[in-house]
Amino acid sequence: MHDQITRSLLLLFATAAIATVVVKTMNHTHAASQTLTNAITASTSSRDDTTANGNPLLAKWEGPYGGVPPFDRVQISSFKPALESAMAEQLAEVDRIAKNAEAPNFENTIIALERAGNTFDRVSTIYGIWGATMNGPEFQVVQREMAPKLAAFGDQIAQNEPLFKRVESVYNSPDKAKLNSEQQRLVWLYYTNFVRSGARLGTDAKARLSQINQELAGLFTKFSQNVLAEEGGQFLLLKSEDELAGLPQSVRDAAASAAETKKQSGAWVIMNTRSSVDPFLTYSERRDLREKVWRMFINRGDNGDEHDNNATITQILQLRAERAKLLGYKTHAHWRLENAMAKTPERAMELMEGVWKPAVARVHEEVRDMQALADKEGAKITIEPWDYRYYMEKVRKEKYDLDQNEVKPYLQLDKLREGIFWVAGELFNFNFTPVTNVPVAHPDIRVWEVTDKTSKRHIGLWYFDPYARAGKRSGAWMNAYRSQERVNGEVTTIVSNNANFIKGKPGEPLLISWDDATTMFHEFGHALHGLNSNVTYPSLSGTQVARDYVEFPSQLMEHWLSTPEVLQRFALHYQTGKPIPQVLVDRIKRSSTFNQGFATVEYLSAALVDMKLHLAGDRKIDPDTFERETLAELGMPKEIVMRHRTPQFLHVFGSDGYSAGYYSYLWSDVLTADAFGAFVEGKGPYDKSVAERLRKYIFSVGNTRDPAEGYRAFRGRDPKVDALMKKRGFSPS
Ligand SMILES: [Zn+2]
Repeated sequence: MHDQITRSLLLLFATAAIATVVVKTMNHTHAASQTLTNAITASTSSRDDTTANGNPLLAKWEGPYGGVPPFDRVQISSFKPALESAMAEQLAEVDRIAKNAEAPNFENTIIALERAGNTFDRVSTIYGIWGATMNGPEFQVVQREMAPKLAAFGDQIAQNEPLFKRVESVYNSPDKAKLNSEQQRLVWLYYTNFVRSGARLGTDAKARLSQINQELAGLFTKFSQNVLAEEGGQFLLLKSEDELAGLPQSVRDAAASAAETKKQSGAWVIMNTRSSVDPFLTYSERRDLREKVWRMFINRGDNGDEHDNNATITQILQLRAERAKLLGYKTHAHWRLENAMAKTPERAMELMEGVWKPAVARVHEEVRDMQALADKEGAKITIEPWDYRYYMEKVRKEKYDLDQNEVKPYLQLDKLREGIFWVAGELFNFNFTPVTNVPVAHPDIRVWEVTDKTSKRHIGLWYFDPYARAGKRSGAWMNAYRSQERVNGEVTTIVSNNANFIKGKPGEPLLISWDDATTMFHEFGHALHGLNSNVTYPSLSGTQVARDYVEFPSQLMEHWLSTPEVLQRFALHYQTGKPIPQVLVDRIKRSSTFNQGFATVEYLSAALVDMKLHLAGDRKIDPDTFERETLAELGMPKEIVMRHRTPQFLHVFGSDGYSAGYYSYLWSDVLTADAFGAFVEGKGPYDKSVAERLRKYIFSVGNTRDPAEGYRAFRGRDPKVDALMKKRGFSPS
């Protein structure tokens, strides 16, 4: 997914917007078992600091490519003073703009705001990267202290009365008509963000709003740290061979290395993370242990102990409801969706409910298949949630003759990365060259320079941080370290992809699953969205688009993995070097709609609960009861649990980021499925003219135009939901 440090959000609504790490949902599987105990805290440097205040985080980025982040000079102790100094600097800049004696105009107000806050952008970017990839106890202390301060900082700008008056005056000025469309959109964005952040409220309401935002920032941090504690602290210890029954070698190896980190040498450990739990549930023949692991995982944050998140959720929901009311919205969901592509919760609900019924119907079919197979084997069981993945895998083998372990030897991480580069070359004329002249936060991270194949023009940098390690969040995501723009000179972008693969044995290529390969293409889609950006203003750049639109470019790129061009050149057997046999590819294709009932219902139940929680208004909510009753009302199949149960739903309670917004993946997937049709109807996935339209109207425009309009320009019409239903193998209800 996509780690959106939105400049305008930070500027105008900083409620824990920093480091909103967004994990991928539909095609998950990140092969990592992760511990947070012996966390890496900092890569220290012996170099002398020669920068302002002696704090290297405050300095302008130096070096090649217009400067690069000084990852080799980061110390945890520098974060707090750097953030405080950068906040003070930005407040002073903003104050100067607000107090300008000249009449407000686009240049002296909007452009001036676009030029402000560069130091804070740099510092908070590195702070976000540390939070997501280099976290540890020492850093968490800083996070707990800084979260409310950062929220208050955002409010101080959003509630600056003279500043808002200036923005409002530019917005309402007849001169606005003389601006070009990108400039007009920028004015609209500033104006609407100010209003949505409470700029029009009276003094008392503003004070209460800021108090709410600070309280929420503290609660988000608490929620996130509780989930991390449960994932890092709980595990299942396996001591004998018979407890490993059914586990393939790769899963055993991962469990053995997890045991090392838990000081349990000679044993095996199943960590309480998805990347550790899912493979165990898929392969373990020990039904009793599957149930244990499943219960451990789904009860994260719900154990009635010091890490229990239920009371925190109740508080968050009440504060959000109060804030929405203060701001003049019916509910938090209405406030959040106003500027999304869906515009209203009702439209998002309509889509979800339309897909829900056929998906549930499919689940019942899937369960019937699994039950039949279990009966045939004489298992004498009724399918329970901890049986789903296990029997699903067996059915996959029986129905499609497809064994995931048969595919894996053809999926080498490094080769697939080359495949991704090749696709970017075909679609966008990009070339990738490895570079070693820039500092990295950890020795495992590698960097490539991106140039235009024809003109050799420098386009940006791509950082790749592929491996799991202590202190790094699980999952996979993209992050923009610097946005492409032209207001502060010709600024090129720096983007990163992050994953949690477990390092292979030295000298051996790392093999990944089909799902992981799909995730790689997904995250790279976000990176390409950033790299293609061709806009003037930083607030409108790259991936800073509506939440329910941002997953569209990334989900779209997933389609290129299964193109014959990629598979024949890059899906090569790690021993023989031979491409993946066509017969295996055919089986993968035939099984593409397999298990879509499970995947859709698992996801959609979470998305529906998210939306309903935020449509419920200000009544006091007990999360456990609400979840149970909502699922019963929906007719949730008893064999499936929500992909993220409420007490561990980081998307929704780790920040405001995806609150009332988890539906975004489905919304974007409607666009994705429909958009790929443009290639299919043309000359295929490498049709240059369709790719050019994609670049022109989608990948390069950032938020400079309305997404629905951009889509229409690309496709020649509005998206239709049919392609999504077909992609998932559902018949319309
Ligand atoms: Zn994504």
